[in-house]
Amino acid sequence: MTHSTHRSFTPTARTPTPQAYPKGTAVINFQSVSKVYPDGTPAVQDLTIEIPTGRITVFVGPSGCGKTTSLRMINRMIEPTGGTVLIDGQDTRSIDAPMLRRGIGYVIQNAGLFPHRTVLDNIATVPVLQGKSRRSARAAAGDLLARVGLDAAMGNRYPAQLSGGQQQRVGVARALAADPPVMLMDEPFSAVDPVVRSQLQDEFIRLQSELGKTIVFVTHDIDEAVKLGDQIAVFAVGGRLAQFASPADVLSRPADDFVADFVGRDRGYRALSFVVSEDLPLHDEPTLTLGRPVPAGAGSAAEGIGDDHGQWLLVVDEKHQPRGWLDCLRVPEGHLVTPDDLVLGGSLAGPEASLRTALDAALSSPSGRGVAVDGETKVIGTVAARDVLDAIEKSRGATPDPAERIEPSDPLSKAGAAT
Ligand code: ADP
Ligand code: MG
Repeated sequence: MTHSTHRSFTPTARTPTPQAYPKGTAVINFQSVSKVYPDGTPAVQDLTIEIPTGRITVFVGPSGCGKTTSLRMINRMIEPTGGTVLIDGQDTRSIDAPMLRRGIGYVIQNAGLFPHRTVLDNIATVPVLQGKSRRSARAAAGDLLARVGLDAAMGNRYPAQLSGGQQQRVGVARALAADPPVMLMDEPFSAVDPVVRSQLQDEFIRLQSELGKTIVFVTHDIDEAVKLGDQIAVFAVGGRLAQFASPADVLSRPADDFVADFVGRDRGYRALSFVVSEDLPLHDEPTLTLGRPVPAGAGSAAEGIGDDHGQWLLVVDEKHQPRGWLDCLRVPEGHLVTPDDLVLGGSLAGPEASLRTALDAALSSPSGRGVAVDGETKVIGTVAARDVLDAIEKSRGATPDPAERIEPSDPLSKAGAAT
């Protein structure tokens, strides 16, 4: 094993980041990065993006838009044809590629496990390569198994004896075995069925809340991107970065028609609402059903709970599910409301972070009121940002809660449901 002189990046020699991320991970910068394959295919065009430390950044977009190519340029499995990739300010070209990859876990679809090695030996692969004794590497692998939610008994099985979901967990454990500051994940959950996929996502969120790695996660699925991402980079065909923003922003303020299409109109409506947390005081919200006429003095009943001018009226469909906000200053009394009249707010449904989601809903709603829904996504009321902030304050004194991680001074620093 060689020793790198690049002390700022290798996991063993890193100086811990002082303030925000005490576990010490890495910032990744793409500076005008391009990739044209030898056959002339332009896979990535002039990509400039900063991937922050300790967060999950998702690359999302349709097939063939350069997500995998971009990801693999981080660990130099693919070399850019233009521009520079930096990790902690260091040009990756100046780092020995095998050394670089030791600090970067890599998880792919179908896990990519070695079929003739047991689960424990799969997980122990890199530590053993790094010179750890087989015995201690296997012991550590056993701990990792538990961490990713697998039974110790699985350790002696071969990959073919595991379900798809279990294999993905082993893949994650193997990538974590060297405790890399950076994890690259390329459609890791795409090949498993929706129920297992959702479990894997939930556990991945929990794991990340303990680990605080710098994670770049590739998916073609916008729902997965929204659920997992602290921020989302939406790629368009031809390897163009169409938008880089929080999930809430991507949903509520798509940068262009491509993003709007990709995100889907429906999703915007869903993004209006959140699943309510017990501690939140809900306000009654007058609603108007799609297709009905705008009443005289519309919205004025909402005065005093965040929308002081009574300007915004919540529009629902026949099932009382939220569809959007109507700006009463822009439509005449008696006008029959259509979906085109509506403005969408942006927040994410997701019980695991309801306070934060509620705050995001309130702050990103044009009316200043976040819409609360029941289990059937019917409107049950609204909540104002200050109510959520109060509830967060209260929960700080109580048992730890994922929402506690919200800093009121920086409420939107991590919008969305991915705690
Ligand atoms: P994604 O992961 O978003 O589906 P990729 O990064 O795999 O996209 O591919 C981006 C584009 O580059 C696609 O048009 C793909 O066909 C092309 N491509 C990928 N790998 C190669 C290669 N080795 N040689 C030529 N073209 C490639
Ligand atoms: Mg791909």
